[in-house]
Amino acid sequence: MKTKVVIVGGGTAGWLTAGIIAAKHCASPALLATTEVVLVESPDVKNLGVGEGTWPTMRDTLRQIGLSERQFLTCCDASFKQASKFVGWQNGGQDHYYHPFTVPVGYGAVNMAQHWSAANYPDSFESWVCAQGAACDQNLSPKLPQHPEYAFSLNYGYHLNAGKFVELLHQHCVEKLGVTYIQGHVDQVLPANNGDIAAIKLANGMQVAGDLFIDCSGFAALLIGQHYQVPFMSQRHVLFNDTALAIQVEHVDNNAPIASCTVATAQSSGWIWDIALPHRRGIGHVFSRDFCSIDDAEQALQAYITNDPLLSQNKVEPRVIKFDPGHRQTFWQNNCVAIGVSAGFVEPLEATALVLVEKSAEWIAQQLPRDCQSMAVLAKRFNQLTSQRWLEIIDFLKLHYVLTQRSDSDYWHAHQQTQSIPESLQEALTLWRTQPPGLYESNQRFELFSSASKQYVLYGMGFRSDVSREQFGLQSQQAMVKRLLNEKQHNIEKLLNALPTNREFLTRLNQ
Ligand SMILES: Cc1cc2nc3c(=O)[nH]c(=O)nc-3n(C[C@H](O)[C@H](O)[C@H](O)COP(=O)(O)OP(=O)(O)OC[C@H]3O[C@@H](n4cnc5c(N)ncnc54)[C@H](O)[C@@H]3O)c2cc1C
Repeated sequence: MKTKVVIVGGGTAGWLTAGIIAAKHCASPALLATTEVVLVESPDVKNLGVGEGTWPTMRDTLRQIGLSERQFLTCCDASFKQASKFVGWQNGGQDHYYHPFTVPVGYGAVNMAQHWSAANYPDSFESWVCAQGAACDQNLSPKLPQHPEYAFSLNYGYHLNAGKFVELLHQHCVEKLGVTYIQGHVDQVLPANNGDIAAIKLANGMQVAGDLFIDCSGFAALLIGQHYQVPFMSQRHVLFNDTALAIQVEHVDNNAPIASCTVATAQSSGWIWDIALPHRRGIGHVFSRDFCSIDDAEQALQAYITNDPLLSQNKVEPRVIKFDPGHRQTFWQNNCVAIGVSAGFVEPLEATALVLVEKSAEWIAQQLPRDCQSMAVLAKRFNQLTSQRWLEIIDFLKLHYVLTQRSDSDYWHAHQQTQSIPESLQEALTLWRTQPPGLYESNQRFELFSSASKQYVLYGMGFRSDVSREQFGLQSQQAMVKRLLNEKQHNIEKLLNALPTNREFLTRLNQ
């Protein structure tokens, strides 16, 4: 018997999910006999069209669904993302730190955060243990022109044009992976006797039946929210931001540098993201309406643009996107699973949305339920795993705020109040005072944030761990640490000499 997967929604979540499942289950005529993937998209509801920063996981996803990197980079006006750079989060001035995608030297063999602390915090933690910040300072590409597709000198994800990405995924899924596309507005859900969804009914009367329904309908949450009424768990008391002003700004000239990182600059009641693509920059202000009016947020955004000589000064009206930060209580109900914004959304501080889509779709593709009994077991496991991931995301995003020394607004004060900090994060902070995050940190096989990520943010924000009681234990590793630091220094010099800039790499690719 054939399993029919019906995806509702054709935004990035819908097409990535379709691609990941179809690549595993439909990519040959023999497989097509066992699984069918159908994607239904409303002609009347636009997709979000934002979401331009990805994790390195996207390289695997693209490779797995059979897209060439050259095609992706050129069709989606994409560039490379090697890090997030946080400006003004500690003191509100020009202070900054990097959260790079490359782990510290010796990661897995030695905990460099212990040695950095024992050495009395020389340099910034990131520059002490990693070469990537130095490459970002010079807008360098993470790879050489002769590198094979998806290979690198420095680990990377992408910055991309979200609209063009959806178009490319759509075309690829339909033409190469056998996904059936139906354009139609879902206006009714037809239930089966056991509470499952039997079919969805479109505005033109057509019914689409299925075995598994994937809700990728964005903020509408058509199936998981409107049909199943699964409660939404707001996280506004932890992560206050609830509004984004998004704008696209031209480079002042075609040869303007393309930054290697997403720049997140703290503001008095939120932060501004800045993502550079070859032809333009995507810039936006994420803030909390409890602390700042939309007009004031827009003024801050315009000031950011005015102060940057590399940006065109043609006035563009920003798009206003309001959201309630949070997620569903459960994500898989009966034969319906929510992926993407329908499952939840919090501020895009570490670009966690698309990676969660990739990981959720991958999990489902690996364990596609073939009958009702296995569906129930998988639903339970998926809900446990995804709840855990949301807790992890919320703790990690909050970590960016709680260590600030900013005192210039109620917003930053409120972020430091104990009652706004999840207990799990408070516990972790207590532990980290004497034990830097390490590999023991988590027993989750599916964790999103490695201890390296926690170290970069923690020490970037000025946190200090007191490792004085570990001094003797650390001495035995000192020769290895010295060698690793020398290697890192040598690596920086080599990379800075060899790597082209992003602009050079992408211009050459387009030729
Ligand atoms: C300001 C902002 C910045 C962001 N930045 C990032 C980032 O840097 N990195 C990152 O990973 N993520 C980011 N995100 C999140 C990212 O944009 C989303 O995760 C991504 O776009 C996926 O959205 P979606 O597909 O779930 O929903 P949508 O794009 O809203 O798609 C919903 C789909 O459902 C369809 N639909 C709705 N109703 C019906 C109906 N009745 N019948 C049929 N179809 C229907 C629509 O037509 C549409 O195709 C950001 C989000 C915001 C708001």
